[in-house]
Amino acid sequence: MPVSADPLRLPPRDKLLLAHERLCAAYACPIPYFHGLDPLSELVSSLLSHRTRNADSGRAFKALRQKFPTWAAVRDAPTHAVQDAIAVCTWPEQKAPRVQDVLRRVTERRRAAGAPAGEELSLDFLAALSPADARAWLGQMPGVGPKTQAAVLSFSSLRGRALPVDSHHHRVAVRLGIIPESLAVGPSHAVMEAMLPPDWDAQQVYDHHEVLMLHGQRCCFYAAPACERCQVLDLCPHGRARLGGEPAGASVTAAGRPRPSAGGHRGPVEGEGVTGAAGKGSPDPDARPAEAKPRSSQRRRKSTKPDEGPTLFG
Ligand code: SF4
Repeated sequence: MPVSADPLRLPPRDKLLLAHERLCAAYACPIPYFHGLDPLSELVSSLLSHRTRNADSGRAFKALRQKFPTWAAVRDAPTHAVQDAIAVCTWPEQKAPRVQDVLRRVTERRRAAGAPAGEELSLDFLAALSPADARAWLGQMPGVGPKTQAAVLSFSSLRGRALPVDSHHHRVAVRLGIIPESLAVGPSHAVMEAMLPPDWDAQQVYDHHEVLMLHGQRCCFYAAPACERCQVLDLCPHGRARLGGEPAGASVTAAGRPRPSAGGHRGPVEGEGVTGAAGKGSPDPDARPAEAKPRSSQRRRKSTKPDEGPTLFG
């Protein structure tokens, strides 16, 4: 990719691709998938993980699998029994009925589509759909927004071509000026996925999510990003302003817009990098806390057993 004289001013798509190239070198792409769950299990895992620490949602998922032998048993169990099984995650009283509701709807929709008896509780059929159609099918269920849809397609055994955007990923993209600060996590999925080269395969799309997320976890921290050792500092208006570089004498918002009233050496401001619905006090399924605990990819990569380990989104 041609690099302009001032990489800070690259168009968003060019900046995204250059950041991808640099961060892929830094984080050793291709990055191994951390899950191999079937798509329905990935959906349940993702529903449990909303706004929950990975370790806790992983324990809740494992407890659920141990208590109930099948997803049909979860669907048909008394809600309090499901709630007890997932008590370790946040809002079990809301997640238990939601998981059961989703399982019932999957059953009903698959039966209506002619799925054989006993095979209704499966999302394996999504493999035959285009990513857009698979997203649309999933999106008709309550609580299954763009991030969960992408997680099911990308992280499950479907290994689909879909770009999840978590709060780390979103924060890095905003600070680099790839997307505006006003674009919340949900709608940012379509915008950022549209910037990706159409010939990228599923692994490359997954890598893109992973490297931006890892960069948010390991360098571009929410409260105090380590700009001085950042591989993409020259591309980043936010980082350059923090370190007193360009734009000279000015600071910028998290999205890179000039903040004329602020000094060049400011620290991060409260709420900066908070994404969309993130930080609100509800279990919005497609939100995560603004200061979600960073997760290490090492831990995630160890989670190769389908019923163990941390889930993707908090
Ligand atoms: S320069 Fe700083 S703000 Fe910009 S991406 Fe790097 S760590 Fe984040």
